Amino acid sequence: MPTTSTPTLDAPERAGSLAVAGELAAVLDCVVLAPTDVAYDQARRVWNADIDRYPAAIVACRSAADVSAVLVWCTEHDVPVTVRSGGHNLAGTSVADGAVLIDTAAIDHVRFDTDAGTVTVGAGCRWGDVDRPAAELGVAVPAGVVSHTGVAGLTLGGASATSPDSSVQRSTTCSRSRSSSPTAAS
Ligand SMILES: Cc1cc2nc3c(=O)[nH]c(=O)nc-3n(C[C@H](O)[C@H](O)[C@H](O)COP(=O)(O)OP(=O)(O)OC[C@H]3O[C@@H](n4cnc5c(N)ncnc54)[C@H](O)[C@@H]3O)c2cc1C
Repeated sequence: MPTTSTPTLDAPERAGSLAVAGELAAVLDCVVLAPTDVAYDQARRVWNADIDRYPAAIVACRSAADVSAVLVWCTEHDVPVTVRSGGHNLAGTSVADGAVLIDTAAIDHVRFDTDAGTVTVGAGCRWGDVDRPAAELGVAVPAGVVSHTGVAGLTLGGASATSPDSSVQRSTTCSRSRSSSPTAAS
């Protein structure tokens, strides 16, 4: 049976045109990493170390306005986009070859409203960011059990929570957590 071979590409080739990162950097007021940047190789990694993908650019968004600007630019230029929160998705769906990776890690604010029983979080928050102030307030959010799992990814599609009553786990997690991300559901 004939076999096919995959051509070996270097990082910039796999990521696509270097022009993407350069053009994005020119219109954004945040850090944009290109495949030739020293920090790029570490920044493209996700929790599953088997995932080895090369985005065209990695944008360290600091606000919803940054995210909006990336989405507008990529839509206008027909460039695919992925979003990374905690990077824990096993299949590595937050990073793709040739796409622009929106890194929300710096959007990590947490605001509790104990009267309303809600917490509003930035799109890059991890559960440790929520659990630490929650403990100080004497409240708990029944959600991820690992501190470095992303709130956004878990809320959008995570599997389980820590409430002993499985019938309320998902609804409790989703109704008591609100992300301020323009793309994540509350
Ligand atoms: C070590 C470990 C522990 C875990 N523990 C738990 C647990 O206790 N309970 C549980 O329910 N699950 C748990 N999970 C599963 C986890 O909740 C899911 O894998 C979840 O998708 C991870 O979210 P993330 O933000 O870390 O991952 P990411 O890979 O960053 O995101 C997951 C998906 O959501 C998308 N996404 C992220 N942010 C946004 C956004 N703002 N807008 C739109 N899309 C977005 C990403 O593109 C990706 O497709 C665990 C996973 C691991 C690896």
